[in-house]
Amino acid sequence: MELTWLGHAAVKIKGSKTVLIDPFLTGNPMAAARPEEIDRVDIIVITHDHGDHRGDAFEIARRTGATIVAIHEIAVEAQAQGIAAEGMNIGGTVEIKGVKIHMVPALHSAEKGTATGVVVEMDNRRIYHAGDTGLTYDMKLIGEFFEPDLSFLPIGDRYTMGIPSATKAVEFLRTKKVIPIHYGTFPLVTADPEEFRRCVGHMAEVIILRPGESYNL
Ligand code: ZN
Repeated sequence: MELTWLGHAAVKIKGSKTVLIDPFLTGNPMAAARPEEIDRVDIIVITHDHGDHRGDAFEIARRTGATIVAIHEIAVEAQAQGIAAEGMNIGGTVEIKGVKIHMVPALHSAEKGTATGVVVEMDNRRIYHAGDTGLTYDMKLIGEFFEPDLSFLPIGDRYTMGIPSATKAVEFLRTKKVIPIHYGTFPLVTADPEEFRRCVGHMAEVIILRPGESYNL
């Protein structure tokens, strides 16, 4: 399974299917791809309705035929535009094209619906993408219940967890591998991933990617 960070919270998970999460590429100064370069994708997950997360999702779905998976309110909007979409809500699981998407809580706001995180289950692996969130005890439950093989956690602070709280999140999740995201995009979300790695220490392997880089899980 190949995990690629496309910058900000945008992630591509390529296994037996390709899942794109929060594809904010247009207007993202750190984007590792232009939306038109994304041509093969099966599922696009939107964690919440903020511009830097839904990004180019609708456009890519329309062009590639990918199915949007998102909170009910965003899915309804997509369907109204003729885009294939599966609506769901926190606590639920949808299985689509052989991939399970579990929607989990996130502590954050959203224009429409509510903010979420997701656990993507594919090829016997579980990947947790926290979306935008503050530190929450729910992460203990996410760790205990889903036992994610790898977690994408925001560390950029101000709008999400910063390094101290994301470090605590690693402890709560008991995740063995973590890839920091949602930093370095704009002056308001800055963090040093090496500092995060030092803070996490022996608790987990911190995999630092540059936008466009991949990690094989
Ligand atoms: Zn947000």
